[in-house]
Amino acid sequence: MSVQELVNQQMVTWRHAFHRCPEPGFKELKTAKIVADLLSGFGLTVHQGLATTGVVGVLKRGDSGRTIGLRADMDGLPIREETGLGYRSEKTGFMHACGHDGHMAMLLGAARILAERDTFNGTVYFIFQPAEENLGGAKVMVEEGLFKRFPMDRVFGLHNKPGIKEGHFATRTGAMMAAFDTFDITLQGKGTHAAMPQNGVDTVVMAAEVVNAFQTVISRRINPTDPGVVSVTQINGGDTWNVIPEMVKMAGCTRHFNPEVGGEIRSAMAKILQGICQAHGGTFQWNYQPRYPATINDEKASELAMSAAINVVGVQKVDGQVRPGIASEDFSFMLQQVPGNYMFLGSGEAHAPLHNPHFDFNDALLPIGSQYWIELVETILA
Ligand SMILES: [Zn+2]
Ligand SMILES: [Zn+2]
Repeated sequence: MSVQELVNQQMVTWRHAFHRCPEPGFKELKTAKIVADLLSGFGLTVHQGLATTGVVGVLKRGDSGRTIGLRADMDGLPIREETGLGYRSEKTGFMHACGHDGHMAMLLGAARILAERDTFNGTVYFIFQPAEENLGGAKVMVEEGLFKRFPMDRVFGLHNKPGIKEGHFATRTGAMMAAFDTFDITLQGKGTHAAMPQNGVDTVVMAAEVVNAFQTVISRRINPTDPGVVSVTQINGGDTWNVIPEMVKMAGCTRHFNPEVGGEIRSAMAKILQGICQAHGGTFQWNYQPRYPATINDEKASELAMSAAINVVGVQKVDGQVRPGIASEDFSFMLQQVPGNYMFLGSGEAHAPLHNPHFDFNDALLPIGSQYWIELVETILA
């Protein structure tokens, strides 16, 4: 059996072991230990503790000062798994529904192979970050000195993607994934008997008008050539038939690619809240929070990433102009500091979507993804 075949088998074993024990963001203790032990077993220098559970493996060859960072994410999701697989989650209500188990296995496979080779000149940093989902583990790693302790010329990310043909790569230069902001709103009115609405200030009516008016932010306030989304995802108020509630709470999120558009969305929403509340004689409080910036791919790094992908699967299977994703990625915080590229690897057109209880990472991608990492290192640090 060749080393590559052996590692392909090992990657499946690692992936299924990760799948069994999904852990929440910043609490990936078992996961980080498995990763760190494997990396040191391959002979890498291992640093732990950045952003609580983050792991960085260092592999150096030759005398070149050139450096490259490769990033995988480690956290699971609060979703109840319904795959019925033999290696399904052993943690009720938690699962690897975004394929981070596969991302770790692919990067470990690349580390295992590269640790045995002398085919590059420079330093490779294998970054395993916590808390990609919502909590911004990448941001915390950056704030805690990731790029100061481990200076990198370029940094690369890879994410499996259902809906794209199995084993096809897809990326683009410039905006790849949207920025993500959240909002929480409390509408304050005056409670009253439902039969005597004239004595109160109806927060349910205010909420209905706010939701409708928010739909005009993108359609009427933002230039039609600039993409954006405003979604109200929660409305809570009242608890019986005959009382107009004093308070309604709402929450949701916005998406956009351009920070200026993000600012326009936020100020248009504020004006709508002010106007509607004033018209009804109510008040509001809100908290609008920018969460993840847009994921912006560097041109040169994207060219390098595409040529590495082409070397692995051939030019017909690499799309260099994929439509930008409107979901968000905290890899954006790394790309704000260091030029790099974020790449999709297709899981198959009919594959269950990410964050779905039936999702399972496609193991056929393991050798393809690890080859992509190896190719990147061997071409950039040739
Ligand atoms: Zn996810
Ligand atoms: Zn993910």
